[in-house]
Amino acid sequence: MTKVNLGILGGGQLGSLLAIAAKKLEIKTIIFCNDKDAPAKHYCDDFIFGDYKDLKCIEEFVNKVDLVTFEFENIPFETLDQINKQKKVYPKPEINKVIQNRLLEKNFINNLNIKTTSYKSIKSKIEIESNKNLIPGLLKTCTLGYDGKGQFKIDSINDLKDLKLETNNEFILEKFIDLKKEISIILTRFKKNSYEIYEPIENVHKDQILKTSKIPAEINDKLKTLSKEWAVSISESLDYIGTLCVEFFIDKKDNLYVNEIAPRVHNSGHLTINSHNVSQFENHLRAVCQFEKINTEKMFNAEMINLIGDDILEYRDKKLKDNEFFFDYKKKSIKPKRKMGHLTRIIK
Ligand code: ADP
Ligand code: MG
Repeated sequence: MTKVNLGILGGGQLGSLLAIAAKKLEIKTIIFCNDKDAPAKHYCDDFIFGDYKDLKCIEEFVNKVDLVTFEFENIPFETLDQINKQKKVYPKPEINKVIQNRLLEKNFINNLNIKTTSYKSIKSKIEIESNKNLIPGLLKTCTLGYDGKGQFKIDSINDLKDLKLETNNEFILEKFIDLKKEISIILTRFKKNSYEIYEPIENVHKDQILKTSKIPAEINDKLKTLSKEWAVSISESLDYIGTLCVEFFIDKKDNLYVNEIAPRVHNSGHLTINSHNVSQFENHLRAVCQFEKINTEKMFNAEMINLIGDDILEYRDKKLKDNEFFFDYKKKSIKPKRKMGHLTRIIK
């Protein structure tokens, strides 16, 4: 079998975990990243440092690979589109164009008759005032937000006094939901009606950053079925290839809402490395490289804890129990709110 040369855009922890999974499948990974100290540098076979908009540098990358995937959704569409003209990009770039923008993303989801929180496109402060029904709410930038960045909580009209909106940015105002729980569904789509779906994962966020994930999620069977159905419907409608994550909100009355879609492997799926026979990373690689689809089964229940900022320090020299798996992302420096590593505990 000739080796596949897989290009991966992005070299963070997701790129690292993809590169580690690739070794088992004898896939050669070539990572392109705009951070010369990217964590994935330690794990990939070849590394190219450059700006995502530098098409000359991208050309060097394209020449080295057979196909391309990505570990985060905010790569400029033009770059993905340019690459796709020469080598296949999975999932396809048009998907990113929709998901990169919270407004287009929510419109798309609602058009599938899938519920999201109520929302409105916002360009100025006056428009917030005329949408009082969405307050308390969250004002979110339409593009480039992650881990709660680019979000402002608006509890009352009074909060608008101190708010300065950058005029060149677009926003959405989203109704705040009194959350009972958050869950995610991770699935890998190989082709039409061909999937591997993981069971719902229950997630807890702190300061809008994922803190813990666990399976099984403590939710009723109706929500388990509906969340899976919605995730399948989204991936089918996008003609998606690879691993995708759908994040959901559940309110106090057990109503289900899609929060957002991540067109990539996802932090809440890290536990699949230890809980399942095939991880979200291996499944992603199998789907994009058109390898055999393996029946994915749970071996253990599990929980994962994100190690954020200084949390990492005590784990670096901690003696682990035999059901604990520690991953250090080997980031150059520790910063508050930065995801530094994670610990997965399997429950035997
Ligand atoms: P990001 O792209 O930063 O992950 P999200 O929209 O997923 O942005 O928001 C991050 C977290 O903030 C969510 O997982 C949730 O805990 C909280 N959050 C976001 N929007 C709402 C909302 N409308 N109501 C309640 N909580 C929310
Ligand atoms: Mg999110």
